[in-house]
Amino acid sequence: MAAEMRAGLVSDGAGDLPMILSYVDSLPSGDEKGAFYALDLGGTNFRVLKVQLGGRDGRVVETELQYAQIPQELMFGTTEELFDFIASELARFVSKEGGRSLHLPQGKKWELGFTFSFPVKQTSVDSGILIKWTKGFSVSGTAGRDVVACLNEAMERQGLDMRVSALVNDTVATLAGAHYYDEDVMVAVILGTGTNACYIERADAIPKLQGLKPRSGKMIINTEWGAFSGGLPLTEFDKDVDSASVNPGEQIFEKTISGMYLGEIVRRILLKMAKDNALFGDSVPQKLSTPFILGTPCLCAMQQDDTDDLTAVGAILSDATGAQSSLKEREVVVEVCDTIVRRAGRLAGAGIVGILQKMEEDSHGLVLGRRTVVAMDGGLYEHYPQYRRYIQDAVTELLGQKTSENIVIDHNKDGSGIGAALLAAANSKYVG
Ligand code: BGC
Ligand code: MG
Repeated sequence: MAAEMRAGLVSDGAGDLPMILSYVDSLPSGDEKGAFYALDLGGTNFRVLKVQLGGRDGRVVETELQYAQIPQELMFGTTEELFDFIASELARFVSKEGGRSLHLPQGKKWELGFTFSFPVKQTSVDSGILIKWTKGFSVSGTAGRDVVACLNEAMERQGLDMRVSALVNDTVATLAGAHYYDEDVMVAVILGTGTNACYIERADAIPKLQGLKPRSGKMIINTEWGAFSGGLPLTEFDKDVDSASVNPGEQIFEKTISGMYLGEIVRRILLKMAKDNALFGDSVPQKLSTPFILGTPCLCAMQQDDTDDLTAVGAILSDATGAQSSLKEREVVVEVCDTIVRRAGRLAGAGIVGILQKMEEDSHGLVLGRRTVVAMDGGLYEHYPQYRRYIQDAVTELLGQKTSENIVIDHNKDGSGIGAALLAAANSKYVG
């Protein structure tokens, strides 16, 4: 991981990891003031927020929120359909709180931070081109286009006159949001439907900046570590999940550690055990052959079952797959879940250590020897206690007990919304 990070910092495409320049070169100072909007397009959810920033003393004064699920069919539709949905949700939100809004001085537009949780080749802090979709999205015509332009066109169709002043990855927004409250935050990791990490890098360690001088001498780098594949040992189940996906050959690390795929890996293992080893008796449970029928939340719920006869495991299995199971079989199922989740957590932990070690080497010891915070978000991390424990175990094991005590993995729930608003403020067109 550390070697691929270095390669990716030299030039685009030189390594496994994209190491995307975020153009975020100064983090929110705390002085930001005013009302800013944020749009957050994630893997499963879509959020709109309005954040009132009170400056040094007031900090975040007020936030309003609106959630929406991304309709399944929009994941396979056209660019216009997806962005029209986003813009119409934004318009609905703006009209709801419209009455309470302060009036903007003549000639000013509301400013917006756009968190877009997919790999984007940034062309500046407020523009960037979608490299490819991930997390099961397969929207036509977006790859290769500037997603801010797509949003602007859709906002225009809605009659909305707003200005995107920051386009950021969710990891970058999380880092900014967390750093606002804690200056020791150096890394942000998302473990949800998909996965990714970003960190603060020193300009002199980024050859591909080619003379561009970040204001602070530093820039947040979006690693897109989900794309990592170098040397990962893969099983037949991983390979099958990959080849059946909408993006075969891509996002291999993501496919072994993130929420979208863990349930599916387990399903394929159970299916093979049912077929080859009669795991559920003579016949293979009917629905066990249906892709994605076993979600990662099911694995998690099964692993929390502490009853003697694993009642919940039996009920979940029967519900999801139609399998009728004995206690022995349920125990096997839980062990399969645990094996896959342990592997995922340990790999995620190893990834975090990879980033920290890279930073440590290049900063001559300024990372591991002092308190360093990794801001973490994502539903998988939030809801799966075993997964969290395996991450921590791996970090402790790899760094050693003493050093690992300096590394704080801090859950930062939904920090990306506020982070995006802060970055919109920090990059506001209307200075002063
Ligand atoms: C995307 C990243 C994103 C991550 C977490 C991945 O699939 O490529 O850009 O940060 O998911 O949402
Ligand atoms: Mg998200």
